[in-house]
Amino acid sequence: INRTLFGRDAGVTLLVLVVTGLTVGRYQNRLEQLAATDKLTGLINRQAFDVLIRKAISQARRDTSRLSVVILDIDHFKDVNDTFGHMVGDEALKAVAGAVRGALRESDAVCRWGGEEFLVVLPGCGGGQALALAEKLRRAIAEESSLAELGVPRLTASLGVAELTPGDTADTLITRADKALYEAKAAGRD
Ligand code: GH3
Ligand code: MG
Ligand code: MG
Repeated sequence: INRTLFGRDAGVTLLVLVVTGLTVGRYQNRLEQLAATDKLTGLINRQAFDVLIRKAISQARRDTSRLSVVILDIDHFKDVNDTFGHMVGDEALKAVAGAVRGALRESDAVCRWGGEEFLVVLPGCGGGQALALAEKLRRAIAEESSLAELGVPRLTASLGVAELTPGDTADTLITRADKALYEAKAAGRD
């Protein structure tokens, strides 16, 4: 009888431990996911991206493979808020985030870099491929059909591309892409 009882208690204890462990593990995963995610768009946030891009750069150096980034800023987005209100602006941002995500591979990391700015890291891509991808993103945004449902006319974005060079840090790489983005804005946007 004792052995049976002992066995059952141990079984219950084990079950409780396993269930608790699973729940805590899942909770922790969920917390990590929340901490890394931008609430509005569901993309990874800037803090998480900072870690990710540094890892990607180290990996590219180890593999002597190429790596590029694309930075994207929606054109005249302030006008969307001013004309349609902040709530519609939020929905438009989600729509653009969806268009960007949809134009990329699952393995390409894209983050919400700032208000209406997005940053993509492309491991394995040289500048030429990144430029082609930037053009694909530009087109995906200009053709995003869910904006019409919000009453928002076609949106455009300007983009900047930079490829990793031997002397780069994450910051210098992103700064170069940002300069290219600024040039695209100055040259007429879209
Ligand atoms: P440009 O073509 O030069 O980029 O013009 P712009 O109007 O997009 O640039 P600006 O930096 O002047 O304005 C960015 C706008 O994006 C202003 C800001 O209110 C809006 N914005 C940033 N984050 C959010 C957000 O989370 N929700 C909404 N609705 N708007 C946002
Ligand atoms: Mg901006
Ligand atoms: Mg803008």
